[in-house]
Amino acid sequence: MGIDLIKHVLGAAAACLWLTAAAQTAAPAPNPPATRVVTLGTQGGPLPSRNRAQPANAVVVNGAIYLVDAGNGVLRQLTLAGLDYRRVSQIFITHNHDDHNADWGTLMGVQWSTGRRAPVQVFGPAGTEDMLQGFLRYFEPNARIRSADAKMAEAPRNLFRAKDVQPGGVVYQDANVKVSAAEVCHYHFRPDATGVTNDKALAFRFETADKVIVFSGDTGACGEALVAFAKGADILVHEVVSLPLVEASLRAFMASQPGARPPPGLLEELMRHMADDHTVPEDIGRLAAAAGVKKVVLSHFVPGRDDDPDSAYVDGVKKHFSGPVIAARDLMEF
Ligand SMILES: [Zn+2]
Ligand SMILES: [Zn+2]
Repeated sequence: MGIDLIKHVLGAAAACLWLTAAAQTAAPAPNPPATRVVTLGTQGGPLPSRNRAQPANAVVVNGAIYLVDAGNGVLRQLTLAGLDYRRVSQIFITHNHDDHNADWGTLMGVQWSTGRRAPVQVFGPAGTEDMLQGFLRYFEPNARIRSADAKMAEAPRNLFRAKDVQPGGVVYQDANVKVSAAEVCHYHFRPDATGVTNDKALAFRFETADKVIVFSGDTGACGEALVAFAKGADILVHEVVSLPLVEASLRAFMASQPGARPPPGLLEELMRHMADDHTVPEDIGRLAAAAGVKKVVLSHFVPGRDDDPDSAYVDGVKKHFSGPVIAARDLMEF
């Protein structure tokens, strides 16, 4: 981006800030907009897809955008959804698999490069603060060059913030939302695995003036803990796996892999991960019924292939839950 364009963008950003200030001093609207959830990316796992983007969701309250997960491509998904990426101030990461955390740094970076001068903060499990230090080093050459091109008021280090959060209570609150976190059942490490004792996967519960929304994050069936956490939610956004479809998909993927054949036992190992670390539709139905949620939105489809019928994911939920069940697509709004 050249200097003229940057000046233009900075001018637009200044205008935007002015508009925000004006809006804040105006009388409140008689019917404030309801809380919205936008499923920005609904593909589960790091495999790229033509039809689904990597996991990300937006909760929009009174014009503020809260991001839940930031898989690869989140900036474009926000743009396609008509959401101004510069207005994202808080990012919540459910866990540090790369399909969920790949692009929060990129988002912050582009916010800075295009004129945002207000802090942006990411909340996630242990490891998130370390990731920010890594991202600041990764971003430094770009920051140095852009700062030499045009006067940049603040260094990224002063605006990008990260907080490792502990499950078990409120992790963030402002005038729009109260956000709580609970640990879920996504990791089942081998007993001899090292260096992962602090790694946790989280679910988030957003409470606003008009809605309660619970995001399961990635999890295997988790029993009473998640039932209590999701209690009475208006919307439960839950991950889902179809074991028959994922086995067929893995077999095809392995058969098409160039080079050496996969080692014996790999398919069985991967299927164990799928069964333990993700949730089949029937268990989502049991959870939704026990928690008394009003609506289930399925997302993070595994395998999520282009020709998977929705029924492969939805029907099992409906066996146990009588409310609405929706198989989300990218950019749907609830
Ligand atoms: Zn995932
Ligand atoms: Zn995961």
